[in-house]
Amino acid sequence: MTMQTKRFRKVAIPWMGKVYIELLARSLRHVGVNVQLPPPTTDRTIQIGVRNTAEMVCFPLKPTLGNFVEALDNGADTLLMFDSRGQCRLRHYWKIQEFILRNMGYEFQMIHLNFRNALGVLKTLGGGSTLKILKEVFHFYGRIRKVDCIKEQWADDRPNIGIIGEMFTCCDERINYGIEEKIYNLGAKPVNTVNLSSFIKESFLQKIHWPSKNKYTKAARRYLNGELGGHGRQNIANLLALVDKNIGGVIHLLPMSCMPETSIEPFVNEICRDSNTPLLRIPIDENTAEANLETRLETFVELIKMRGQQ
Ligand code: SF4
Repeated sequence: MTMQTKRFRKVAIPWMGKVYIELLARSLRHVGVNVQLPPPTTDRTIQIGVRNTAEMVCFPLKPTLGNFVEALDNGADTLLMFDSRGQCRLRHYWKIQEFILRNMGYEFQMIHLNFRNALGVLKTLGGGSTLKILKEVFHFYGRIRKVDCIKEQWADDRPNIGIIGEMFTCCDERINYGIEEKIYNLGAKPVNTVNLSSFIKESFLQKIHWPSKNKYTKAARRYLNGELGGHGRQNIANLLALVDKNIGGVIHLLPMSCMPETSIEPFVNEICRDSNTPLLRIPIDENTAEANLETRLETFVELIKMRGQQ
């Protein structure tokens, strides 16, 4: 496909939480990128992904592939995919997606976005100056930090329930069936430790080899033989912080067959058992039934409320 000039490109990004992606689209537009968001993720989107990927691949690949198919069907010609450059499959998603989509007969340009290439990519796609882009990056971080401060807040008037797990399932309300809202409506406060601003900050500090002074991050090291990829080590650290502050209960949200999250399961179990903290593990994939999730959630929140009354 011939390279199109930035004016004519229609650039699609996959969903990973409505608020985050709408804020990202806003910032990309500020630096001149012509963003065309895919339609919201639905069962159809997920089914497209399921039909065109390996059955046992980790779940986020499926909805994000479906997002790209629906974006291309709506006229997008450039796909912008996040690339963690970490140790997990996320760094390979864009390659796998590109391969599958070309085999499906689509023509497009695939661009991957990571810490290392972000400035160059944004200049190419939007044409903005370095200063303008850097300013917008800081604005974007400030906006998502505001959102995440609310997600991380503890309540005084109801039990607090910590959420740890994989980034995509913890952040995308269409994938986790709006779990934060459901917890709140059941009378508890979700304390979601897995959020985009923390992830960006942690990844950035890690990339520049900035030693962490956080005592929980240091304590989490003893569980693993180095980096695990994904959010694995941070989840152990976040869990240690939650139980240390006497959280009412913990929900471990993960996509089925997620490597880092299934690897840390025994540690999560032990930390919760030793601290007498109720734990609910919710693996999510295309077969998850919302009604089943709701029933388990209701029972869990009730249990935590009853413990608080004893
Ligand atoms: S963190 Fe889990 S879901 Fe995400 S890419 Fe890695 S294995 Fe897949």
